[in-house]
Amino acid sequence: MSNLAPWPPAITEEQLQALTLQATTYALSHGLVYLPIAEKQPPAPTSTIHAPLALFPSPIPRTLFERARALQRTYNILYARIASDVAFLDRVMGADEGVGRADAFTGELWRRWRRVRDEGVARPLQLGLFRSDYMVHLPDSKGPASLKQVEFNTISSSFGTLSQRVAALHRYLFKSTGYYGSSASLKEENFPANETTAGLAEGLAAAHAAYGVKNAWILFVVQEGERNVFDQRWLEYELLEGHGIHVVRQTFAQLAKSASVDPTSRVLRIDAANLPDVNGVEIATVYFRAGYTPTDYPTAGHYDTRYVLESSRAIQCPSIPLQLAGGKKVQEVLTTPDVLESFLHDVPQAELASLRESWMAMWALDDSGDAGVQRARAEHTNLVLKPQREGGGNNVYKEAIPPFLDALPAAEREAWIAMELIRTPEGLGNYLVRAGGGTDGAVKAEVISELGIFGWALFGGADGRVEEREVGWLVRTKGKDSNEGGVAAGFSVLDSIVLV
Ligand code: ADP
Ligand code: MG
Ligand code: MG
Repeated sequence: MSNLAPWPPAITEEQLQALTLQATTYALSHGLVYLPIAEKQPPAPTSTIHAPLALFPSPIPRTLFERARALQRTYNILYARIASDVAFLDRVMGADEGVGRADAFTGELWRRWRRVRDEGVARPLQLGLFRSDYMVHLPDSKGPASLKQVEFNTISSSFGTLSQRVAALHRYLFKSTGYYGSSASLKEENFPANETTAGLAEGLAAAHAAYGVKNAWILFVVQEGERNVFDQRWLEYELLEGHGIHVVRQTFAQLAKSASVDPTSRVLRIDAANLPDVNGVEIATVYFRAGYTPTDYPTAGHYDTRYVLESSRAIQCPSIPLQLAGGKKVQEVLTTPDVLESFLHDVPQAELASLRESWMAMWALDDSGDAGVQRARAEHTNLVLKPQREGGGNNVYKEAIPPFLDALPAAEREAWIAMELIRTPEGLGNYLVRAGGGTDGAVKAEVISELGIFGWALFGGADGRVEEREVGWLVRTKGKDSNEGGVAAGFSVLDSIVLV
């Protein structure tokens, strides 16, 4: 086929051993790490394992990579505007008229947002740290290859800081070994820069500055038992060292006790034993690395804690409306006539066409009576069904679709969308290196890679202005046989890019 395959280049067994040793030791010494799998982590961890990683960077056509980066600026604005459109979100995601009727999780979140609105609380600025995910689509062996969007993440987009480190790892392996001269593509100018850590921290710092209280802190809302803590810690270090901003990490369970909102000023304060100020600290920005999945809210009280944060004047990253804007349902509704134009009336037609070109066909399962389901049955071999969930492992693919539809109550159809499968190039492989779980060492596999582009947007002021940036990228690579691609869920590895 294309200029992508075959990949990876041929190396000897000895070269493979040497690359693997260099890769894992580099990862361990440069914070490209995870907490090990353990029943229970000690409060202060004593050991790490290297993050799952690919030995070679994966080939991505330069034009497609550049297109994805350019598109991000428009996507930043698009999702900022969606999050600002109350009527649209009520109609599409709400619990009275939209998906919130069929999907309990969406409904719970929407109701907390609604409560804040009913109380007449003025909405402060909002911050989004986004990641738009793509795969290379090659419908037949002759091409041309294009880039198709998998999804747009508006909450807890992870692996920004670790992706910078895996890009640095591949550059180091090249510098150190030249990858044994195994491929002419592997040269310095084909390894794009990736400064995600500074870029994402800059977004959080911009929100902090807009809040306007110099010694206010940033709150990271985190999951209990999170293993991907270093990806988050790198952002903390950058905020402190690069911007002089302090971070406090809390779970929803901790926040139930530690968070309070002043009824008059709406200032959010956290009062916890590990903080220097006995009166607690004022929070400028709330950054969610939890709260994207129902298991983060085991009780109604957890949703109420989310409400407390949302009702404050602290800048939410994301607010509930911005989280709802990231729903798969919104992605599908954007493909229906005139919706994109209604949000981006001031964007040139060519740019809108470019956005559309990055989409696969999507439709709602509850489309026109039975038609949506019937089409899904008829085309199931080329489809994935998606609910309103994040974090991987929730979709239904191909042959599993007809029996799934047989069992799905009609009232729940609205919670699902159907999406055509992206057809990724054949003949691409890599060495996947994982630690723990009895799979230590490099395993050669045929792979599929997913490119993520990071961006941020600060918006919601009276002037309608959206301050936004594109700030770097991520590649996750998975074995070809795995439908899903979550690194945290154990299906894929962190990877980087060689432009071809
Ligand atoms: P989540 O929010 O749970 O990450 P995604 O929409 O990203 O949901 O789907 C999870 C994974 O499923 C993706 O990382 C990708 O590997 C696969 N996937 C999703 N949509 C498609 C598609 N249209 N074609 C092929 N694979 C897909
Ligand atoms: Mg997602
Ligand atoms: Mg995803």
